[in-house]
Amino acid sequence: MSRPVRHEIPPRSGAAFTLDRGQRLTVIDPQGEQVADLVAFRRDDLDEVISSGRTIDYASRIFLTTGDPIYSNRSNVLLRIVEDTVGRHDFLLTPCSADTFRIIYGDEHPHRGCFGNLAAALAPYGILPDRIPVAFNVFMHVTVDGQSGEIAVRPPLSRAGDRVSFVAETDLVIGLTACSALQSNNFSFKPIHYEIES
Ligand SMILES: [Zn+2]
Repeated sequence: MSRPVRHEIPPRSGAAFTLDRGQRLTVIDPQGEQVADLVAFRRDDLDEVISSGRTIDYASRIFLTTGDPIYSNRSNVLLRIVEDTVGRHDFLLTPCSADTFRIIYGDEHPHRGCFGNLAAALAPYGILPDRIPVAFNVFMHVTVDGQSGEIAVRPPLSRAGDRVSFVAETDLVIGLTACSALQSNNFSFKPIHYEIES
């Protein structure tokens, strides 16, 4: 079997593509400490989308890894994590956006962030911005104080070459970014790579 083609998402940008049932998507951090926001929609009914709330509810955990399913708003499994060399990701926070940069960073001329990048990449598939859910934030390192619930965004634990693989349980449209938020990526913007295997 030939090696899958490796695609690059440049720093602070995003991509969208289809993933067929049974195909494997591998998200790779080529340099280390870079987050990738991932969203997935059921291709033949775009109202069905990954759901942070349902997934965390059924897992009874907020940190997901190898073996964990990612459920939709209709409680179907859309993706399953089949390999994870890091073991720490986030499924609580929305994609960073112009509003994130305005509210948290005080930027006067904010970047459109992962949200804007996802909206632009998903538009050709007929997916409007208001449909974009909480993303599965690959490699994002969020810590939670168990008593107060206070959260903190830390540098990712991923090192160069680390990867997470997902298998599609149905035909999907995927949105994927190289995250644009300073805090999430230890204050430098790097690319993200991905591969698709049948
Ligand atoms: Zn982001």
